[in-house]
Amino acid sequence: MALALNDVMEKKSSLDFKNQAFINGNYINSVTGKTFESISPVDGSIITSVSECDVDDINIAVKAARDVFEKGSWSRMAPSKRKKILFNFADLMKKNILELGLLETLNMGKPITRATGDIAACINCTKWYAEAIDKLYDDVAPTSDNLIATITKEPLGVVGAVTPWNFPLLMACWKFAPALATGNSFILKPAEQSPLSALRVAELAMEAGIPEGVFNVVPGYGPTAGKALGTHMDVDKLGFTGSTEVGRYFLSYAGESNMKRVSLECGGKSPNIIFADAPDLDHAAKMAADGMFGNSGQVCDAPSRLLLQKSIKDEFLEKVVSYSKPWMPGNPFDPNTLMGSIVDKTQTERIMNYIDKGKSEGANVITGGDQVLQDSGGYYVSPTVFKDVQNSMTVAKEEIFGPVLCAIDFENEDEALQIANDTHYGLNAMIWSNDLNKVHKLAKRIKSGKVLINSLSDGDMSLPHGGYKQSGSGRDKSLEALGQYTQTKLTLIEVK
Ligand code: NAD
Repeated sequence: MALALNDVMEKKSSLDFKNQAFINGNYINSVTGKTFESISPVDGSIITSVSECDVDDINIAVKAARDVFEKGSWSRMAPSKRKKILFNFADLMKKNILELGLLETLNMGKPITRATGDIAACINCTKWYAEAIDKLYDDVAPTSDNLIATITKEPLGVVGAVTPWNFPLLMACWKFAPALATGNSFILKPAEQSPLSALRVAELAMEAGIPEGVFNVVPGYGPTAGKALGTHMDVDKLGFTGSTEVGRYFLSYAGESNMKRVSLECGGKSPNIIFADAPDLDHAAKMAADGMFGNSGQVCDAPSRLLLQKSIKDEFLEKVVSYSKPWMPGNPFDPNTLMGSIVDKTQTERIMNYIDKGKSEGANVITGGDQVLQDSGGYYVSPTVFKDVQNSMTVAKEEIFGPVLCAIDFENEDEALQIANDTHYGLNAMIWSNDLNKVHKLAKRIKSGKVLINSLSDGDMSLPHGGYKQSGSGRDKSLEALGQYTQTKLTLIEVK
């Protein structure tokens, strides 16, 4: 959608914030009455105070979600009817796309054009699963003649989700769309930095016709509200997106409680391998910059390790630096801005510490490296490129989650593969080359949930997203995700 700054600012001035928990179809205060401040990284201002949920609130939400699940008003509804309601839900998101986008821009600083693009992706995702659900058949097993054995998929029950701030609604939608489509009740604990779009969307879910108690949002902090969902004895599944460090906790929470199913979408440090025989080095350089600086580098599968064949290293880096210029941060409410702010002060300090660490370990900044727009009161970092990075350096090993690209040289295919796999992450990998044999061999040997060749576009809903190694387990998107929200039942009848 084409936006104008005036329209954006006018809409912004009329925003009304939903700041209470949404449980069983109502906005309510947390049991303790506690709240936390939602601060905008755009200018450091306080947006609103949000209800801070804890164990008691999670208990109430789980009971509501369980009750409605057992009642069957959603869980046993005909798939074609659920589909219709989910379409209503998607249409309501579309009607309110600017408002939802603005809530995300305010809350975590992404540019408005990108934020509304993310909401458009949520609409698409919700429709995609709604569209799928009345076209999937169950199975009848090829048993002997006197047996009838059906193998059916049933919803799990109460699904919890704990999500990050980088794509506040989209990461939640990748979970709630398949979970709702398959008939589950859903409880979302959004990141404390960015709860506002999820809180507003809960109301739209009700308006669309999703029964009370099926869609709940419990804002709060990870070690309290997040942990309470993760350890709850009556939550059947927990879908987590966030850091590898916190992902580990959810595995323990499940073990300590009811062995709930856990799926994890965690961190990444993805290699972007550029060979001298890439089909179009200029395009590859533009994609290297776009992929790294989009969303201020706060992207789990960003191509953050740029592996460059030595013979083209200098030429390529010159191009990357030039393509990094349009990514200089600007006013996130301006529809022409490409890069907005960093999510908060803590994350900004973390990024700046990594930049210092890179320098002290011997890498060289060839562009950026500064905090900028400090007069705004917000948190902005310039697009930064390091050269002379060794894969053993901290900036190459750890997820920075900011606009910092690390260029590492390699001599040949074997060395590129060794560097690419020398990480405990395995979310994404990119290869740019015209040599089909080389590409095919490498793609098979790279330990990663995705390998993109001469491309960065993996946005289509039909494509699974998820990691190898410590980037996680399970997959969001695609039909594979539906399997994470259902369980398999064998029903056998013996006939005479
Ligand atoms: P985070 O792990 O700090 O927080 C994620 C969520 O976990 C938040 O809702 C937070 O409140 C909660 N949490 C934190 N501590 C907790 C605890 N002790 N118990 C229970 N819950 C807890 O991550 P973040 O900073 O919000 O997001 C950035 C991270 O997310 C990066 O590592 C990024 O790679 C990852 N991410 C992964 C994907 C993917 O699809 N693989 C997508 C987006 C982001």
